[in-house]
Amino acid sequence: MGKRARTLLRILEEAVFPAGLYCVSCGSLIDKSRSYSLCDDCIRKFHWITGRTCEKCGKAMPDTSHGRLCYDCMQEDHFFVRGFSCLTYGLYERKLMMDLKYAGRGYLARIFGDMMFDRMESEIAGGIVSDAATGEAVRIDIIAPVPVSRGRLRRRGYNQSEVMARQFHRRWQDWALDREEAAACPPSAAGTALPASLSAPRFRPHLLHRTRETRMLRSLNPTERRMALENAFAVSPRERQALQGRTVLLIDDIYTTGATADACGQALLAGGAGAVYLLTLCSGGNRRPTDTDQ
Ligand SMILES: [Zn+2]
Ligand SMILES: [Zn+2]
Repeated sequence: MGKRARTLLRILEEAVFPAGLYCVSCGSLIDKSRSYSLCDDCIRKFHWITGRTCEKCGKAMPDTSHGRLCYDCMQEDHFFVRGFSCLTYGLYERKLMMDLKYAGRGYLARIFGDMMFDRMESEIAGGIVSDAATGEAVRIDIIAPVPVSRGRLRRRGYNQSEVMARQFHRRWQDWALDREEAAACPPSAAGTALPASLSAPRFRPHLLHRTRETRMLRSLNPTERRMALENAFAVSPRERQALQGRTVLLIDDIYTTGATADACGQALLAGGAGAVYLLTLCSGGNRRPTDTDQ
């Protein structure tokens, strides 16, 4: 789709889902210039991850900790190379996530997709991340959401992670187009192609599917979660060939114990993926040995 067609599509979407009239969190009147349709008060109340993070899962780390990894990641390795996250899951984040999942406010997922892209823009400009071993930039080939079960999809009408991933992907396409145009702008530089590492990956919303219905994870401890999710995900047969050796950026709404991300990562690697990276909107706080699991 060309840029003009996409702009048109966005204008149409805006007419259907007007953003920027009321704060999506508290409902107070705002103007269109406010980021993410949030009022200044609510923007301040959110727990944006801007400081130190766990180098493995991307959770915020307290300033007092000296290690590279959070407690969870010290205990257990993961089936993804590295994770990134926008927000620490607190009271306000929780309310919006509940609205998104259970109050039919599907348009929130688009706003969350914007947050995710803004979080990742500098990483994308730098080729996502450099490989720890070689120092080379890693190119993401495929963006894919964590799938929801059929039952939940029927009740909710959408997979919130898929809508977020779609908006994230769309922003990446726009970003790459803008850079391509800028690169081609001065006549002397005409024909300068965007480095392949910066072009938008492919979006594969049905790369993974659920092989069976699973219990709600909220009340389960980490071991129970892992057991509940064992072999619960698989690469869709049609997608298998295109996946071979590719690097996938997996997108999900919330990261707590990592059980879902790991079950998906394991399925992707078993299905032939070369590597898996993870991007989540919210992530739970650090778990200490004495903390109850969230
Ligand atoms: Zn507000
Ligand atoms: Zn971690």
